[in-house]
Amino acid sequence: MSQILVVGSLAYDSIKTPVGAVNKTLGGSANYFSVAASLLSPVRVVGVVGSDYSQEDKKILESRNVDLQGMTVKTGQTFHWSGFYDDNLNEAQTLQTDLNVFADFDPVLPQAYHDSKFVFLANIDPVLQLKVLGQVKSPVYTGMDTMNFWIQSKKSDLLKVLQKVQILLINEGESKMLTDEPNAIAASEKLLRMGPEAVVIKRGEYGVILNHKEKGLFVLPAFPIAEVIDPTGAGDTFAGGFFGWLSRNEKRPTFEDLKQACFVGSCLASFTVQDFGLKSIRAVTAESLSKRQTTYHQYLQVST
Ligand code: AMP
Repeated sequence: MSQILVVGSLAYDSIKTPVGAVNKTLGGSANYFSVAASLLSPVRVVGVVGSDYSQEDKKILESRNVDLQGMTVKTGQTFHWSGFYDDNLNEAQTLQTDLNVFADFDPVLPQAYHDSKFVFLANIDPVLQLKVLGQVKSPVYTGMDTMNFWIQSKKSDLLKVLQKVQILLINEGESKMLTDEPNAIAASEKLLRMGPEAVVIKRGEYGVILNHKEKGLFVLPAFPIAEVIDPTGAGDTFAGGFFGWLSRNEKRPTFEDLKQACFVGSCLASFTVQDFGLKSIRAVTAESLSKRQTTYHQYLQVST
């Protein structure tokens, strides 16, 4: 089992969905990722929080044995994202992004993180993603995510990171925005030509498309959920499950491993959407995950 290094946002989110709203609840890509991944593998976090970040919130990751040596506390406010969903729950609409302490964060990895073998550059400023990657000595497998905010503001830096990772995990809407392609498969083909050997397009309730340079396509429907409360963090939870699964084996993942990782990631993401913020994913146990995996397998069975 390998340690996964994740760099991403540690945030307070204000979210409105068709069924309710929450104000300044704990969120951020690194929090969702770490809660999910730590069910499967040890995790190391790189990120920054402000002086308003509560001890209680810090304990959520500490209690899951997540290594927080790489978490910096700075004077100021924690990153704050506010957004809403209309009836299309697959796409978040951003109302406001307050970078706060993120604005001048310069990530310096603790010595103990330099040997990390699995690295996930979660949704964060691509300049920071690059800085983190540059400090890891010999990673086995690296991946990244991004979002419209960075595509619009830092596209050239983003394209540099894309050339250095093995896999990109990205929302369908953002894959189209980054490639100027109206079709998700065509977008994934174009993204493969930008650097990574594989791309996962996340399509919310419609599941994921994995496209691999040599092996081609794999498609997986999402685990069906009748009542989606808050989709925030589903993509980061998927990534946590995906990397958590892959890092259980210290070797470079095969196409079969990537398919299995999609299955585990999708299964975990289906918990996240069942409540606001981290509430539902935090309550997942090895037993509830295994039970849902069995049901998911049954739904996916088809005779040849
Ligand atoms: P997702 O899994 O795509 O729903 O990611 C949701 C998380 O992304 C939220 O918890 C936000 O705090 C975080 N987020 C939103 N905008 C940004 C941004 N510009 N940079 C980093 N993290 C962000």
